[in-house]
Amino acid sequence: MRVGVDIGGTKTDAVAIDRGGRVVRQLRLPTDLGAAAVLETAVQAVMQLAALVGIETVEFESVGVGIPGAVDSETGRVSHAVNLGFDGLELGTELAGRVGVSVRVENDVNAAALGAFHLLGTPGTRSMAYLNLGTGLAAGLVLNGRLWRGSRGTAGEIGHIPVDPNGPICSCGQRGCLEMMASGSAVARQWPTDAEYPVLALFGAAENGDPLALAVRQRLVENVASAVRVLILTVDVDTVVIGGGISSLGEPLLRGVREALEGWALSSPFLASLELPDRVQLVPQRFSAAALGAALVGDTATTSGAL
Ligand SMILES: [Zn+2]
Repeated sequence: MRVGVDIGGTKTDAVAIDRGGRVVRQLRLPTDLGAAAVLETAVQAVMQLAALVGIETVEFESVGVGIPGAVDSETGRVSHAVNLGFDGLELGTELAGRVGVSVRVENDVNAAALGAFHLLGTPGTRSMAYLNLGTGLAAGLVLNGRLWRGSRGTAGEIGHIPVDPNGPICSCGQRGCLEMMASGSAVARQWPTDAEYPVLALFGAAENGDPLALAVRQRLVENVASAVRVLILTVDVDTVVIGGGISSLGEPLLRGVREALEGWALSSPFLASLELPDRVQLVPQRFSAAALGAALVGDTATTSGAL
């Protein structure tokens, strides 16, 4: 049995999967911030899963961890994990020492891409992009059944493609990045609210005809559609799967993105021929694609086809 752990800014999801890649147990813990606390959360997740399954942690075949930040997947070192409150952690080595199992660490969006590929891929699916819409915007790429990290690990960082020369300055130093138009932080900047789920509140206000909410919602879905177009025009993946916190909006988001893509196709026979609206879908919400993907990271036997 293998374990996958997805460490997020507020919660940590963990799954145990069997040899066929099926999830047999899952759990969720709150994430405490700081290097020591994040490590402890990961240790607890593995130990509690072992207790649920009724085995010792050393009996797991492997542990994979998905985590935001710059990840060296060779060494398991995590750096610049701003949302988790630390700058450097030898997560792979430290966690392996605590649970007695080999540990692989991967960027969370990449792990989710692998998880989505296995959740949604059919036998004919060879490639998939996972578009993560959270506080920021980034994509993970699975090509020919394998994670594609790029030469420096930046493949899929499309959130930092500048799309508006007059847009606001991005945290990366450029102006008008896609992430500044289509992400949780983009919505927060354009439509401030105290609501617990700001994007949900935005869509609700737009439904009620609030003019500003309508404009911000339109900008959001058009730029998400633009991200889908970038991914297909760049790597021509079979499918783009939308995940991340904003994807919990569900059908209203997907409908808006498809309508934007259909609108562009009306004036472009080229775009129309690519059938973009049919190639977008949402990640299922039933369990964490990133935790599942983390369990599969580095496993060559199961990355060549769908489950
Ligand atoms: Zn940027």
